[in-house]
Amino acid sequence: MKKVIIIGGGFAGLSAAARLAKSRLELEVLLFDKRGHFDFLPLLPDAVGRQINLEFLKYNINDLSRKLKFKFINEEVAALYLGAKQAATAASTYTYDYLVVASGSQTNFFGSPDTERRAYALNNADDVKKIQEALAGDRFENFIICGGGYTGVEAATNLWLYFKKKGLAKKIIIVERSPGILGPLPEWMKLYTQDNLKGMGIDILANSSVEAINGDSVVVSGGRAFVKAMVIWVPGVRTADFIQKMPAEKNPQGRIIVNEYLGFKPDCFSAGDTAYFGAKNNYLRMAVQFSIAEGDHAGLNIIRSIKNLPLKKFKPLDLGYIIPMANNRSCGAVFGFKVKGLLATLLHFIMCIYRSMGLRNKMGLMAGLIKGLSQGKQGGVVC
Ligand SMILES: Cc1cc2nc3c(=O)[nH]c(=O)nc-3n(C[C@H](O)[C@H](O)[C@H](O)COP(=O)(O)OP(=O)(O)OC[C@H]3O[C@@H](n4cnc5c(N)ncnc54)[C@H](O)[C@@H]3O)c2cc1C
Repeated sequence: MKKVIIIGGGFAGLSAAARLAKSRLELEVLLFDKRGHFDFLPLLPDAVGRQINLEFLKYNINDLSRKLKFKFINEEVAALYLGAKQAATAASTYTYDYLVVASGSQTNFFGSPDTERRAYALNNADDVKKIQEALAGDRFENFIICGGGYTGVEAATNLWLYFKKKGLAKKIIIVERSPGILGPLPEWMKLYTQDNLKGMGIDILANSSVEAINGDSVVVSGGRAFVKAMVIWVPGVRTADFIQKMPAEKNPQGRIIVNEYLGFKPDCFSAGDTAYFGAKNNYLRMAVQFSIAEGDHAGLNIIRSIKNLPLKKFKPLDLGYIIPMANNRSCGAVFGFKVKGLLATLLHFIMCIYRSMGLRNKMGLMAGLIKGLSQGKQGGVVC
């Protein structure tokens, strides 16, 4: 019986497992995840602003193991030995015939343990819990969002909504190293977002970076200091340590450069945020839709390999993307069309509910959304 190891129980890893389960082949599938639950990342910022119940964003991986026919090993993979076809955790070493690396991405603290200790990450449900607890303590006056990508924008607008509901006047500042927020996105989207942030009183400090975090005091470039400041750290991500150490071709974030079949070594595939798929200057961004499609495709190519069929090329379909903003003035591009305002927010939520895991979670998210929409005023969507 062929043995498949999947590292990561996120969108990509579970999608690979689902495809393998559908094949009806006699397989032994081991799925590793360092956490016991799947986290629905796209709605994490909304757990702060819209107060979505975090429990609706989690799904117990063990509960999926019977349905998707895998054995769940709740351990962190520490090393891969590709030559020996082995994956090692602190407790044991496991061999495989086929491998899917789908361990996603994690916050990049750029090698600074101080930053890691003092700043707040926003990359899983546990991070959000820490942010919620810090906010409940109400000891900060300034909120520095380090990183002006879409996660930074989402975080800033959700903080704005949180304080608006509490009737608190706090300063929210996005600190961005490059000349503007939202990097390579179209100009109209950047202008729309900047205008929206301005309307909410959220400042943008471009060409700036966080230089030091000393307790509750934060210094940004040029020596400007903020006291009673909380830093939310979202300037970028990197892949897991075991990938950094693994001998394979990678991009600067440590994403594995995969070929047109999503493979990177014989019988080894990668999917989701860990996989860097594309051609020169046209690589796929980190997104749920690609993670699901890649996981599925990696599973398909394993099945085809076992059946001695030629592997299939991965042909991604890009549905588009939304920059969700908590006052409901979101924006994005869907099937190449511009979408703005409440429609963009609605599309984002509908997609999130559709892709969330389990009926209870879907119902919980839907109930919250309907409740919020019935309030019908800007910033009033409360989930
Ligand atoms: C705040 C936020 C908002 C986002 N919003 C959107 C959005 O609106 N739309 C969108 O398309 N995308 C969004 N994304 C990106 C999207 O969530 C990711 O692209 C997607 O989750 C990647 O799926 P994945 O399966 O590759 O990784 P993940 O979903 O991150 O899953 C990886 C899994 O691997 C496990 N793992 C990691 N290392 C190890 C290890 N060494 N051993 C064992 N297990 C390990 C982790 O515990 C995790 O469960 C957002 C991301 C964040 C953080």
